[in-house]
Amino acid sequence: MLNILLFHNITSIPSHDFYSVTGDFFKALLNQIKDSSFSVKNLRDFYGNSLSSHDKSITFTFDDGGLSDYEIAFPLLKELDFRGSFFITASFVGKSGFMQWDMIRELKDNNMEIGSHTISHRILSRLPAEEAQEELYASRCLLEDKLGTKIDALSFPQGDFNKRIIDLAKKAGYRIMCTSTPGINGIKQLQKGILYRNSMNRAVDIPTMPSRIDPSWFNIILARLSYEIRKGTKRIIGNERYESVRNRLLGVNNVQ
Ligand SMILES: [Zn+2]
Repeated sequence: MLNILLFHNITSIPSHDFYSVTGDFFKALLNQIKDSSFSVKNLRDFYGNSLSSHDKSITFTFDDGGLSDYEIAFPLLKELDFRGSFFITASFVGKSGFMQWDMIRELKDNNMEIGSHTISHRILSRLPAEEAQEELYASRCLLEDKLGTKIDALSFPQGDFNKRIIDLAKKAGYRIMCTSTPGINGIKQLQKGILYRNSMNRAVDIPTMPSRIDPSWFNIILARLSYEIRKGTKRIIGNERYESVRNRLLGVNNVQ
C-alpha cells in the first residue's frame, strides 16, 4: 500500500491557515515515520507500478511551490535522507511567498521530484479544452526547459478533475496524476496512474498523527465523507464563496 501525504504550507509558527502545518509538526511526523515500518519513496519509484501487496510505503507531496517547501520542508527531509515530490504552479515561481527557479533546481539536484501544478492554478474542468490543454502541456514544457529534467507527475489544482481532464493530461504526457481525494493506493490505482492523497492540515495533531501515517479503513471512510461534503458544499455555493466564508470564519487566506 502507498500512503501519499499532501502538504501545502509549512509555517515556523502556528497559523490559522487550515492547510498549513508547523515545521515542528512536520519534524515530529518525519521522526514517527522514520521509526515506523513504512519506507519513504518518491512517486517516480512507482512509474513501473512497482508495489507489492506487502509493501508499506509513504510519499510526501507538496502543492503550489511555496517558499516554505524550500526553507522548512527541504532541510528537514534532507536531514533524514528522505525524498519528496514538489508540484510547482509555474506562474507563481519567483512571486512573494513562492520559490524561485534556482531553489527548485536545488531541490531537483538533491533527488527531490518536481511535478506540475499547471501554469495558473485555474480549475481545469471549468476551462475549454484548448485552455486546459495549454495549462497541462505548457507547464510541463516550461518546467522541463527550466530544470532540464523530465516531468512525469501532475497534481490537479483544488483536486479538481474529471474524465476529460484525465484524457487531456495523458495526452500532455503525464504518467502519474495526484488528486486530493483521501484514500490509500494499491496496485489498481498505480496501474491507472490516478492517485489518492491524504491532506495534512491543521486538523491533525501529534496524538492523531499515527492514524494519518497508517490509517484504518474507518479513518479513510471518515476522511472521504468529510472531503465529499466539502466538495458538495463548494459545488452548491461556489468555490470562491466557500473559500471566502471559510477564510472569514478562520480569519485567513490561502491557495489550495
Ligand atoms: Zn494548489
